[in-house]
Amino acid sequence: MLCARRHLIALVLSVLSSLALAQRQTLPLPVLPDGVIELRVAYVRNARLPEMTDAQLHLLLETARQGVREHFGREIKFSALVRLDVQDVFQRFTAAQAKELNSGIYDFKTGRGDDARLRKAYVQGIGRHKDNLDDQIDYVRPYLLAPLAGRSYEALSDVLMHTHLARLRQFRGQRLADGGLLIDDQPYNEYMYWGSLDFIRLPYEVVITNQLIASVEYYDHEVHSAIRGGVTNGIATQNGGARFSATSVVSTYPFIGDDVATKELRGNESHTGEEAAKYAGYMLVHELGHQLLHLGHPFGRKACVMNPVELLRFRVWVNQFSAKDCPIAASGAMMPGFVKFPMPKAANP
Ligand SMILES: [Zn+2]
Repeated sequence: MLCARRHLIALVLSVLSSLALAQRQTLPLPVLPDGVIELRVAYVRNARLPEMTDAQLHLLLETARQGVREHFGREIKFSALVRLDVQDVFQRFTAAQAKELNSGIYDFKTGRGDDARLRKAYVQGIGRHKDNLDDQIDYVRPYLLAPLAGRSYEALSDVLMHTHLARLRQFRGQRLADGGLLIDDQPYNEYMYWGSLDFIRLPYEVVITNQLIASVEYYDHEVHSAIRGGVTNGIATQNGGARFSATSVVSTYPFIGDDVATKELRGNESHTGEEAAKYAGYMLVHELGHQLLHLGHPFGRKACVMNPVELLRFRVWVNQFSAKDCPIAASGAMMPGFVKFPMPKAANP
């Protein structure tokens, strides 16, 4: 998956699946309908965590609708929002699926994670998109919590892993207003599940959740996710239950959460309710760029909504967008089809 944290859960599935051959197939670029593209929306709620109001959710979706028109020249509309409980959604994963997903999760809650396995995964993950190494280093350098030992994927991986784990442990220690842990022992914070909606063929193109998604896995690392401690703002992932065989997920927690770790990653900026909703709307535009056009990440091109946000600095991120300075391109990350999603399982032979 992609975004805002990672996108290609596909990779996860290709590693885990016994259908190795079939999984090498990638999702073709969808043939989008002429005119208005209708997208089904689910709101997945964890009652323990803070939420956006109905008015904010409406503004989020309206911002996304306008942003897709401005940045991608496409017309979209959303069907009526369907409300689901996070527990109900996670219960749709079978015990066998949960076991498979859990095998890919680095257990930071109990301290039983395998550091050597994690480092190996980091080196593989950081190099897999064949993004320019120097660009990636320039992008993360201001946010690293340890010095970089050289200009190699290995050196970059070491400092990213250190930074990722240090920030994630900060989140683990935060408490909600009611005294409960921000990240408890339920798996709802785990990216593996949110990035594997294909397992349960959730029939929505868009999923908004108030759940904080923050975790570390043995697969699928991306630099922009590591520097923010594994917090995922958004995901685009293959899903055989969705109209274009992929679903875009946006987590509202990073936009409205007021724990110390989140605020620090936002640069200690406070947002109005309206700003938070608009910024989350642009996160959905970004994820829809992955889903509908299979766009990639033009790292460092600040005019582009597809450039990942730095840490959680949403205001700076949005204020620099300029659609005319970041057109759809014939090559590079802004070229439709740049990102390769794995084929959903159901579409395999
Ligand atoms: Zn992305």
